[in-house]
Amino acid sequence: RRAHYAALREKPSVTRDGVDITLLHNSGLVADLPMLDDTGAEGVGLFRTELQFMIASRLPRLKEQAELYAEAMGIAGDRPIVFRLLDIGGDKVLPYLRATAEENPAMGYRSIRLGLDRPGLLRTQIRALLQAAKGRPLKVLVPMVTETFEFLLTKQVISKEVDRLKRAGHPVPSRLEVGAMVEVPSLLFELDQIMPEADFVSIGSNDLVQFLTAADRANPRVSKAYDPIALPRLRAIRLVVDAAARHGKPVTMCGELAGKPMEALALMAIGMTRLSMGPASIGPIKEMILNLELKPIQDEIAKALGAGANGQSVRALLTQWAAKQ
Ligand code: PEP
Ligand code: MG
Repeated sequence: RRAHYAALREKPSVTRDGVDITLLHNSGLVADLPMLDDTGAEGVGLFRTELQFMIASRLPRLKEQAELYAEAMGIAGDRPIVFRLLDIGGDKVLPYLRATAEENPAMGYRSIRLGLDRPGLLRTQIRALLQAAKGRPLKVLVPMVTETFEFLLTKQVISKEVDRLKRAGHPVPSRLEVGAMVEVPSLLFELDQIMPEADFVSIGSNDLVQFLTAADRANPRVSKAYDPIALPRLRAIRLVVDAAARHGKPVTMCGELAGKPMEALALMAIGMTRLSMGPASIGPIKEMILNLELKPIQDEIAKALGAGANGQSVRALLTQWAAKQ
């Protein structure tokens, strides 16, 4: 199978009816990045920067962070990497950062909340990213945005660091894009406010589905009961796709959904064209795309979503449809 997928590497990921799908990696380790050459993916749609922090025995210093980012950019070359700002807290614990016990860590003091509350940590990371990019383009993604103003505050921290570099006569990124993760349900109701402020958005389906269904993503006893591509979840994701289209902003799915064939099919059926996934999923997903006539399934899914159907999954519909192909 590996040789089979390797043969697909050079082929552009376009459906039979001509829809271009951008395939990207989810990653967090520099050691993963050479795999870009094996899969032929267009870049890294989600680089989880907290991994460096999780495997360290103390807080990585500015220089160490900058070196890691520069190394990553060096390996990726012209292929873009979306660096997500630290998403610490919840299930991602740093032993050396004293955390107070919380009843609900997933909904607690985490991610950009912690970043904005401890701006020293956030500033250091942003400084490291800007230093690493020097003269190259840079993409930064803000996790767990709950309200637009948190995104604006983060952008202010970034602008201040850019100004600081300029004043000191250091090189700044040739182009800087800042995106917001849509993974907290409240932001679904602020899409027209966040979109004009963001250069791009990424949907984190792992958290978004967890919070939409109030079912812990780490607890299969409850999370298994709710299909992430059931109509209510798919409608929520479609809100983001439609808002992004209205505002002319790119939207990527970077949750685990994107790397599973039936789920990826559902996402493409509602108009998503940028999918970020574990490198091992690129081959199988690309193969599906190359054999796919997308328009008919888009019509079927649109009908299912529009009808007053109950919460049932579109999985059955997609499975039937796939079997006929
Ligand atoms: C997500 O929530 O879907 C996501 C991509 O981020 P993480 O899994 O790191 O929370
Ligand atoms: Mg998340």
